[in-house]
Amino acid sequence: MTEGTTFFKFCPHCGSQDFVYTNNFKFSCHTCDFVLYHNIAAAVAIVFTHQDKILFTVRNVEPDKGKLDLPGGFIDPDETAEQAACREIKEELGLAIASQELKYITTSPNNYLYKNVAYRTMDIFYECPLSDELIEVAAKDEIKDLIWIRRDQINLQAIGFVSIRKVIQERYLSE
Ligand SMILES: [Zn+2]
Repeated sequence: MTEGTTFFKFCPHCGSQDFVYTNNFKFSCHTCDFVLYHNIAAAVAIVFTHQDKILFTVRNVEPDKGKLDLPGGFIDPDETAEQAACREIKEELGLAIASQELKYITTSPNNYLYKNVAYRTMDIFYECPLSDELIEVAAKDEIKDLIWIRRDQINLQAIGFVSIRKVIQERYLSE
């Protein structure tokens, strides 16, 4: 990852250009000793299942516009992961899902490059079975389309984020 080295050119405290990104999570100013942590951000992803199919979204925004994704998003301050998942599901799909309907699956790290800022995330995965396939996009600005794909027909290369590609491959393709 080299993107992170470019997204701040000056120390936000003193303006010095001797401001380095040393270890993928911390900026340090050699002039005034200011330190800025760029810690891992937490996010959620939901695997909706119906029979042998999985629901994918088609991203309508960068990064990875046009690629397959899962419903989900960043966790807000003071939210639990389950609350974030339920909020994102409501915002993106218009579905009211209760926390108890979400089954924890696993976590997987991801890279999320947005406006030249290299966010590193920890994605928390939940699974939620649905009784039918009738879902519509509520957040049309973010999501271009919804696609149910049979597990044996999933093209991993069409999935944008490395975290989602990994979890789908390891947890859903071999069953
Ligand atoms: Zn400084």
